[in-house]
Parts: sequence; C-alpha cells; structure tokens
Amino acid sequence: MLRWVTRGTLVGAALAVVAVALTGTGPTRATDPVSTPPARAAALSTATTALPAYTASIRTIDAALAYRMRYSWRSGCPVPLSDLRYLRMTYLGFDGLAHSGEMVVHRVYAANVVAAFRRVYASRFPIRAMRLVDVYLGSDAASMNADNTSAFNCRRTTSGTAWSQHSYGRAIDVNPIENPYVSGGTVEPAAGRSYLTRWPLRKGMLTWTVRDAFHDIGWYWGGSWSSLKDYMHFSSNNR
Ligand SMILES: [Zn+2]
Repeated sequence: MLRWVTRGTLVGAALAVVAVALTGTGPTRATDPVSTPPARAAALSTATTALPAYTASIRTIDAALAYRMRYSWRSGCPVPLSDLRYLRMTYLGFDGLAHSGEMVVHRVYAANVVAAFRRVYASRFPIRAMRLVDVYLGSDAASMNADNTSAFNCRRTTSGTAWSQHSYGRAIDVNPIENPYVSGGTVEPAAGRSYLTRWPLRKGMLTWTVRDAFHDIGWYWGGSWSSLKDYMHFSSNNR
C-alpha cells in the first residue's frame, strides 16, 4: 500500500516538473477563443502533441561502425561485435525537443530496450545525451561527466577488475549526473553529489515510470541495491 501511495506522489510530481518545463521552453500556445479549457488540461494536451512520434531502428555492426567502436570494443572482450546491435531511438532532450540517440546493446535485448525507451519518451522523461562512449574515446568517466546515457562499453567494473555488465551489452546508464553511483564516500560522477538527496525529484532524475519501463523488460535497477547505490544503472541480471 505504501508503495502505491509513494508511487502516485512521485508520478504526480514528475508530471508537474514536465508541465513546468514545457511551459517554460515549449512553443507558444494559441488561446482557444471559443472555449478555453482548464489550464491543467491545456498543458497536458500540449505535452501530448508537441513532440514527434517515437522512431527507432536496430541494425548489425558494419565495418564503419566497428571502426567507430574501436574505443569501446577490442579483441578479448567477452562479446563479439556480431552479437551487438546498434540502436537509434528518439529521446526527449533537456532542451524539450526530440532528438535521435544512439546506443549499442547485446542483440538479445535490442528489441526490449527499444520498447523501454519508447515508454521513457512517452513519459516525457528528459535525457541529456545518448551517444556511443566512443565519442568520449571509450572513457566511462568522460561519458559520465558529459551526463551521457549509454550502454555498451567493454570495461572493468567501477570498483573492481571483473568485466562490467556494460561489457556484455546488458546494462544501461541513464543521466549519470542526476543519477550518480554512490559507494561509501565515493560519488561518480563528482557532479552528481548534489543529487544524493533523491527528493524532491529534479529534472533528469529517474522516475518510477522509467524504472518500470525497465522492470517490465525484466531488467533491474541499481538504485534499489543496499550495499551501494548505482542510480544510473539498469541491467538484465541485477549486477
Ligand atoms: Zn552502469
């Protein structure tokens, strides 16, 4: 019961944040001279019509893309390039506009990830950037500092030497600054320190809708861990 009360509150707050954002940065709305609807209804109506439809594509890694991915993949990585897929997906930027993002995940999860981000987009959840980590020369730190949302990166875990789940294309980090990694006194990225307080919800912080979008494809959220918190992190195996 408590769960649902909390959840309702969060969703309500998230909608309020979105409404404020759209009012502040969206296109000017014409006033209906015949029958002006209630303000709340008008705002929601605008929110559902202002953005283009969600589009996405899934394709294999061709030679040109393999060359681009030379920073995130190398011989010896646990998953071959042939098992990875390149996704293009529409997302809502922090600027309130629709953008085309790119992401690489394991082929097994490609369709589900596309479906999850369809729901994320439909909920008007803003994403700062969605680019391959190769744009940041494969540096996880640089990608996080840029608040980049990404998936595949053949690298070691943040705190150890084992392959990160990102190395298998079965983990995604969303808005790292607003949803930092926290372990003891360590906060990554450092700019995420002001987001250790998880309430009230601020722009880019994960909403229940986003969490549910991943839960419903069978993925787990690192923000629910108890030993450490990895608020940006979703994975297929809860690691
Ligand atoms: Zn992660």
